[in-house]
Amino acid sequence: MGKYFDELYGNPSSQLYELGRKSKEAIEKSRKIVADFLNAEEKEIYFTAGGTESDNWALKGVAFANFNKGKNHIITTKIEHHAIIHTCEYLEKFGIETTYLDVDRYGLIDLEKLKEAIRPETMLISIMFANNEIGTIQHIEEIGEIAKDNGVLFHVDAVQALGSVKIDVKKQHIDLMSMSAHKISGPKGVGALYIKKGTKIDNFIHGGGQERGRRAGTEGVQNIVGFGKAVEIAARDFNNNEKLIALRNRLIEGIKNNIPDVVLNGHPTQRLPNNVNFSYKYVEGESILLLLDMEGIAASSGSACTSGSLDPSHVLLATGLDHGTAHGSIRFTLSEEITEEDIDFVVETMKKIITKLRAMSPIKNDEDLKKN
Ligand code: PLP
Repeated sequence: MGKYFDELYGNPSSQLYELGRKSKEAIEKSRKIVADFLNAEEKEIYFTAGGTESDNWALKGVAFANFNKGKNHIITTKIEHHAIIHTCEYLEKFGIETTYLDVDRYGLIDLEKLKEAIRPETMLISIMFANNEIGTIQHIEEIGEIAKDNGVLFHVDAVQALGSVKIDVKKQHIDLMSMSAHKISGPKGVGALYIKKGTKIDNFIHGGGQERGRRAGTEGVQNIVGFGKAVEIAARDFNNNEKLIALRNRLIEGIKNNIPDVVLNGHPTQRLPNNVNFSYKYVEGESILLLLDMEGIAASSGSACTSGSLDPSHVLLATGLDHGTAHGSIRFTLSEEITEEDIDFVVETMKKIITKLRAMSPIKNDEDLKKN
């Protein structure tokens, strides 16, 4: 990436000089790497500023291209990222209706309910490959078949799945797919949208001819180069995630066996190799995070207090957790650099923190009084 900041800084739209041509070549190299990884064609990959933009483009682009043709209905789930849910809410202003499918306690949708939700006016099914909070992986190929059999476009938010799960856009009948570089250790602020050729979708950013005129604006060449490299590494290491799965399972077992009154969120096995999410009864997620930070451990809580709302995560509530339990949820995301010692340190630290917080918890004290 550094080379494209300080040596090869040409504008890829300027093909009359070598520096410009080199930049363009670098973009096209990344496009090929991404396309090959998904079993797509190069001209089906459009670089964007990340997952949020790709999700916005997929939904708004399909909605605006199709809603004058009697199509005004989208199907999605209650556990999508806000990039999907808030976009669907925005589209309601234009008369586009959305059905939000329920999920079971593991976060899986019911395929029969999906079939029942399809109407003649349905233009798009948008379902995430894997959930960012609880790690649950959906039955994407079966969903793709349902969409295809019913003549409905299928968009997949694969931001969390890219690099962890086998993706083959043809086999899985995917028409549109969102990706983001920073979820696979690439740079922030770059991603892509896969658009199957022939898909009816409006252009997203109007301006110059970049990205074949569909997403205008001078490209962040260095970011696209970084994204390409991250996908190249993800492809190289793809079959090597046993180590990560073993670490994930060590953390799950460590927490289950050492801390009472916990609930594993997400599917026990059909989950991302790097995701561990538990609810700890009688305590509050934000307090756990503060104490973890003091020990040098970075994690995320299941509540959305940081985003200015006291509501617990919509994902956890959709899986049936009550508000109290959802508020005491923590997600750990593992990377390749984590060791078994790190996992054991986290388990020991969590045990101490939860014991300490429960000793101060008024809810825990009430429960104990009731029991006695
Ligand atoms: N979709 C999912 C499932 C995500 O997890 C995220 C980010 O966490 C996004 C979309 C948004 O991606 P970005 O941060 O690249 O905008």
